[in-house]
Amino acid sequence: MATAYEAVIGLEVHVELKTNTKIFCSCTTEFGGDPNTHVCPGCLGFPGTLPVMNKKAVEYAVRAGLALNCAINPYSRFDRKNYFYPDLPTAYQISQYFHPICKEGYVEIELGGKKKKIRINRIHLEEDAGKLLHSGSSITSSQYSMADYNRASVPLIEIVSEPDMRSPEEARAYLEKLRAILEYTGVSDVKMEQGSLRCDANISLRPVGSTEFGTKTEIKNMNSFRSLQRALEYEIDRQQDVLEEGGTIIQETRGWDEEKGITSSMRSKEEATDYRYFPDPNLPPIVLDPAWIKTIKASLPELPDARKERLVKECGLSEYDAGIITSSRSLAEFFDRTVVLFNEPKTVANWMMGEYLRLLNAEGLEVSESKVTPEKLAALLKLQADGKISGKMAKVVFEELFNTGKEPETIVKEKGMVQISDTGALEEIVMKVLAANPQSVADYQAGKEKAIGFLVGQVMKETKGQANPGIVNQLLKKKLSE
Ligand SMILES: [Zn+2]
Repeated sequence: MATAYEAVIGLEVHVELKTNTKIFCSCTTEFGGDPNTHVCPGCLGFPGTLPVMNKKAVEYAVRAGLALNCAINPYSRFDRKNYFYPDLPTAYQISQYFHPICKEGYVEIELGGKKKKIRINRIHLEEDAGKLLHSGSSITSSQYSMADYNRASVPLIEIVSEPDMRSPEEARAYLEKLRAILEYTGVSDVKMEQGSLRCDANISLRPVGSTEFGTKTEIKNMNSFRSLQRALEYEIDRQQDVLEEGGTIIQETRGWDEEKGITSSMRSKEEATDYRYFPDPNLPPIVLDPAWIKTIKASLPELPDARKERLVKECGLSEYDAGIITSSRSLAEFFDRTVVLFNEPKTVANWMMGEYLRLLNAEGLEVSESKVTPEKLAALLKLQADGKISGKMAKVVFEELFNTGKEPETIVKEKGMVQISDTGALEEIVMKVLAANPQSVADYQAGKEKAIGFLVGQVMKETKGQANPGIVNQLLKKKLSE
């Protein structure tokens, strides 16, 4: 009988902190810029320069740790992780190995209505490396490579989970939740496509029921939630095939190839001892004042779970809708601001979950980049609620609003989209339609209630779709019973 395996997954997530300047010098952390323009002798590793700790980076690390339910270590320290690679000008990365700034937190995920806590082992502060631009497709197949040190020494936190995830879906849910929490706290802009949120995964298989860990591989180069899930699914199949054929898993680092949809071996996995960690002699330990930690804790915003609960309890949204709306702070704030202006939370949620997210996803836009504002959405919903436009028209107006940012009222005027809700005007048309369709009238009066649908359709046709169908229905029923 074939052995059933279960996956054991842990994630290491690197998050760039949104400080204005780098972690140990005053260079800007701004994304982009011409190569090697955001650099100084410090972050280029020139001899004789000394690092100076950026206090904001420490504050953000603590803030992230508190939001992720971690204990904050009152004493932490920097160590050098030694390795040679051209993107690292000093040939060592300043990191925290022996005494990280945060430990023992957790993130709660929910899948199929089931909640699960994924434990966080530690969070440490470190500096980012530069970026290599290869003339070919990889460093080994290139004629030459260029080094851009703009990103060197940008502050990072590395969030290391326990191996608590058992499926690619759980890993994805964890990363999504982590991103949402970090976005809420404002410590990072958490953009996977720009590399401010990066994720590596450790994965092994073991027979179901076993409590021991199998040999793990580390997967790199996953640049989206989807690629994380796909890479893990692939790796589970690959490891299972190896095990079923009686082979052994090699502990190694494997790269995910998005196009080919496979992982392939990059290098054998290094051990911590390979890095010769030792305390950085140029940086004093970080000793935190408990009062400062308290101040940071008090400044944390309402986090996704609390916000979701509020939307379910106070606004009557379903768990599902509330979960999606609170999955990003910008979406949740958009919702709150719209509801203040148009106090029908369910209608607002329906529009956001439907048309708005559909168009945002189709265009690959963030809420902050969209031309739709809470004021404009509320104005549109009000036009519909007042019967000035139909639901169908509202969708057309919304799309135009999304594309142009024009005021809904302007769009309605430009398109000549006025819904006729004026009973007097409609009554005349209704009488005309009734006179022209005696058979339908007779059918209705003989008990065939369906006949009214045809009559409504005729009125809509007469008014080129501009009649308010609700009012037409009422008027027809009234006239037919007279
Ligand atoms: Zn610098």
